[in-house]
Amino acid sequence: ATPTSIMVGTGRAAELGVLFRKGQALQSLRDTQVVALDKTGTLTKGQPELTDLQLSSAFADAGDDSVLALVAAVEQHSEHPIAKAIVAAAKARGLTLAEPTDFQSLSGLGVVANVAGHKVEVGADRYLNQLGYDLSVFFATGEQLATEGKSPLYAAIDGKLAAIIAVADPIKEGTPQAIDALHKLGLSVAMITGDNRHTAQAIAKQLGIDTVKAEVLPEGKVAAVKALREQYGAVAFVGDGINDAPALAEAEVGLAIGTGTDIAIEAAEVVLMSGDLRTVPNALAMSHATLRNIR
Ligand code: ADP
Ligand code: MG
Repeated sequence: ATPTSIMVGTGRAAELGVLFRKGQALQSLRDTQVVALDKTGTLTKGQPELTDLQLSSAFADAGDDSVLALVAAVEQHSEHPIAKAIVAAAKARGLTLAEPTDFQSLSGLGVVANVAGHKVEVGADRYLNQLGYDLSVFFATGEQLATEGKSPLYAAIDGKLAAIIAVADPIKEGTPQAIDALHKLGLSVAMITGDNRHTAQAIAKQLGIDTVKAEVLPEGKVAAVKALREQYGAVAFVGDGINDAPALAEAEVGLAIGTGTDIAIEAAEVVLMSGDLRTVPNALAMSHATLRNIR
């Protein structure tokens, strides 16, 4: 395409709320075979809410509130949307949160800290498994929550399994229509997420997403993009988080949600001005129309 055609294309794109950081992106979009999307904050609102809390028998006497207060105290120092959901739920119950010490965040796994003399560990099943906890008492509950599209988490206090907690992150307005439109353009649609496999599959099924890469650690997102390329061809990756930056850079074209983190925007060729994913099929359709008209 000529530089003029690219300018025409990028001008039209700006009207659609799509910003091109590189002119090359118009052609990369046109050549896309599969659109891969991050789940949290991209397909979903990224503002989960706490939906369930169930204590293990060892903590039944302690009660929901005292366990939630300890867990939320740790999560105060995490930037993760899950952490914000837990803190908000604790505050809504009027709980006082102590100041944690020795806070540590393990990317894609969970968090740990000391709170009021107690060691508190919270995170994904694989994190607690790694720490040596036996989660089998919560196995059926975890499966059930995941089938409902909720994300199960586990908390341990002073070396004992204390609770299973679930958060649910609503699907964004526009997401179902965006996926339908991508399919109508003849593209495949994939989800890449660090979340639980069953949760991811439940949400993918609801949305009609073709391929799911779940329980992917942040450093695994690049490998997931490469695997999708092997399977389908050129990849467009859509994401919003710091964790998404390497995958945005790896994809043939990276599309960052403009309301997401600056690090994601820096790594992307295309910025979506709104969080509404309908801009993605619009941009793809436009790339075809523009490059076709010019030739
Ligand atoms: P995603 O953005 O797709 O959810 P992440 O890599 O950020 O992926 O997180 C993967 C998983 O790690 C989460 O689904 C959750 O189970 C766990 N996790 C990460 N951070 C936290 C946290 N602050 N508290 C509890 N669990 C967490
Ligand atoms: Mg995200």
